[in-house]
Amino acid sequence: MSDYNFDVIVIGGGAAGLSGALILAQARRRILVLGAGEPRNAPAAGVHGFLSRDGISPTELIELGAAEVTRYGGTILHARASSARREEQGFAVGTDDGQVFTARRLLITTGLVDELPDIPGLRQRWGRDVLHCPYCHGWEVRDQPIGVLATGPLAAHQALLFRQWSADLTLFLHNEPEPAGEEGEQFAARRITVVAGKVVAIEVTDDQLTGVRLASGRVVPRRALVVAPRFVARSEIADELGLTIAEHPLGIGSHLESDSTGYAAVPGVWTAGNVTDLKAQVLGAATQGATAAAAINADLIADDTRRDVARYRARELGSHRR
Ligand SMILES: Cc1cc2nc3c(=O)[nH]c(=O)nc-3n(C[C@H](O)[C@H](O)[C@H](O)COP(=O)(O)OP(=O)(O)OC[C@H]3O[C@@H](n4cnc5c(N)ncnc54)[C@H](O)[C@@H]3O)c2cc1C
Repeated sequence: MSDYNFDVIVIGGGAAGLSGALILAQARRRILVLGAGEPRNAPAAGVHGFLSRDGISPTELIELGAAEVTRYGGTILHARASSARREEQGFAVGTDDGQVFTARRLLITTGLVDELPDIPGLRQRWGRDVLHCPYCHGWEVRDQPIGVLATGPLAAHQALLFRQWSADLTLFLHNEPEPAGEEGEQFAARRITVVAGKVVAIEVTDDQLTGVRLASGRVVPRRALVVAPRFVARSEIADELGLTIAEHPLGIGSHLESDSTGYAAVPGVWTAGNVTDLKAQVLGAATQGATAAAAINADLIADDTRRDVARYRARELGSHRR
């Protein structure tokens, strides 16, 4: 439909968005991607668990993906979407630099924000030696003295998980209760040290985390600290379009609701990646982007076919009348 600038606007150019854009560009759809270049894992030195690309820098991976999308005719703009509204048959998306683009369908892949515990110095070390995901960083910190900061009920799970990568593991209770019963027994059996007391800071020497400081003044030497961020879907655009934002059943954050194809139960709008699946890794986010793209293409094909059938019937009717 030529009334619209694009067939699909992809909001968010991370792994999910670019993967969706690539599939759609290869399906000969007119694609605009808004906002590429700042993936969630940007603080990390390399991407792990990505077969054939292991260790690649997160920004290089995105640059490679963006180049593939443009090779097939997709357009990528380094602008943030600041508004989105439904029009009669599609959508109008405004950017923070004052442009407005229209499209028949939207794919929302705006990712999530990692809300970290409020402890001085944590944010600066995030993705380097303040970590959350063993499959992203576990190998790098194997056999090192690792700490786990308890800020909720998942801390026990995290401690037992990271124990797989190091035998020198300390759980800092911070404000959480002393483990009891079966949990206490599990920690003892796995030789996980439990330290009571509020954590007030992390110690850094020569650009390396070296310890965890307690309110008592004691510093426990550590090389990495595991935390449990709250994962909050970036949902400003989704809000405007009436998508449903739900609390994750495990209490780890909030996400946009969608079905297995990424369809967000609002006609014309799909989602993919961390904005809808808080636990998706890079490969998973990319797969979801591709799945949503195929669903969008199928929806556009149905739309094109309906329209052509209507035109065909009108033509046929006209020729019979003549
Ligand atoms: C420290 C860290 C290390 C990690 N390491 C790994 C690893 O080794 N391996 C692995 O598989 N996974 C890793 N992950 C997980 C990985 O980051 C995610 O799986 C992946 O980034 C999800 O991709 P996404 O496209 O859904 O979201 P994102 O990568 O967050 O991309 C979303 C994009 O949307 C953009 N955006 C947001 N709002 C707007 C808007 N309004 N308009 C336009 N654009 C917008 C953002 O700027 C961003 O570019 C790590 C995560 C963290 C935090």
